[in-house]
Amino acid sequence: MSKWPEVERKYLMHTVDRVPVVLVKGEGARVWDETGREYLDFVAGWAVNSLGHCHPEVVKAITEQAQTLIQTSNQFYTVPQLCLAELLVKHSKLQKVFFCNSGAEANEGAVKLARRYGKLHLNGAYEVITAAGSFHGRTLAMVAATAQARHQQPYIPLPGGFVNVAFDDVEAIKAATTARTCAVMLEPIQGESGVNLPSDSYLAAVRAWCDEKGILLILDEIQTGIGRTGKLFAYEHYGIEPDIMTLAKGLANGVPIGAIMAKDRAAVFSPGEHGSTFGGNPLACAAGCATVGFIIEHDIPEHAKGVGRYFKIGLRQLQKRFPFITEVRGRGLLLAIEFNSDIAQKLAMACLERGLLVNRVKPNALRFMPPLTIGPDEVDRALDILERALASVSC
Ligand SMILES: *Cc1c(COP(=O)(O)O)cnc(C)c1O
Repeated sequence: MSKWPEVERKYLMHTVDRVPVVLVKGEGARVWDETGREYLDFVAGWAVNSLGHCHPEVVKAITEQAQTLIQTSNQFYTVPQLCLAELLVKHSKLQKVFFCNSGAEANEGAVKLARRYGKLHLNGAYEVITAAGSFHGRTLAMVAATAQARHQQPYIPLPGGFVNVAFDDVEAIKAATTARTCAVMLEPIQGESGVNLPSDSYLAAVRAWCDEKGILLILDEIQTGIGRTGKLFAYEHYGIEPDIMTLAKGLANGVPIGAIMAKDRAAVFSPGEHGSTFGGNPLACAAGCATVGFIIEHDIPEHAKGVGRYFKIGLRQLQKRFPFITEVRGRGLLLAIEFNSDIAQKLAMACLERGLLVNRVKPNALRFMPPLTIGPDEVDRALDILERALASVSC
């Protein structure tokens, strides 16, 4: 190994056990390490590089914008921010946008917005109901929203105002709803806890309950949004519309960005009530415009749906050959396979050795979130490596 792991140990806080590879270059679905070794990337910057690494249209937009105007302040109008907002509104069922820099920050803003709504329209209601197994980010309030003990316990006491209930259980939401409730916040598909899909009727039932009570439905589409699941937004699969939606990961193909979107009636911030120094800066928004523009123009969600289906069929065939795969699940190109024992780490390393990057999402599950632009040939190569890796751990 090179000197870099040593440098990391010396200077960086130990917040992650890294994969022992130093990546130096990427193109499409391929990345290269410092020795020149090539890998097929089915992690894609954590479901971020949806158009693949260094997509030419995005690189061009960033380069041109960097030579023109990188950052102003939000006191001024800037064109890329307005272009991206218009694009997102025209292609979603929400009417207003606020830009920030990350997923956690978008969710924080969404909760602030819901509390403003509670103050104005719900007699000061402020509580947000979230679901077990969720992941909403790393800030203190989002740790309180993220209903997982391992994320919460190290930071107790946590900010108040969150109620964690079971996932995929509308009765649990009903039982937790009180006069203090202003919103329910959910991921349409839970990404970080293993690509957990709710039953088909869940989101519609939650939507109906929120309507009955006059409370807001916030969908965290940070991972599922911008085409990942085979629709531009995952809510489209379920025949519902959220009042508030958050976006981040796939929004600018790798440049940090986040967004809160809201229905007109829920967009209740007044001047001075929320803000961000970098949020919506021309550089990030130019990357966002190029990314979202390309995704819409080339109907990348439909492509992801087709390739995702092909990939899933291949994974099901592997399941027949390796019965210790207990489940194949997911939508579009957000997929996972689960095992009957904790072999995911060993398997991820076996894939790495054979030139494929995959994510060990749980001790007993792997997650796949490749660029949405991959074709059947790249899926075949990944399946071939995965098959050899599975064979290597099963004997
Ligand atoms: C990644 C993720 C977040 C947090 O995003 P950051 O940009 O890491 O803050 C929040 N919610 C979901 C569903 C995510 O997948």
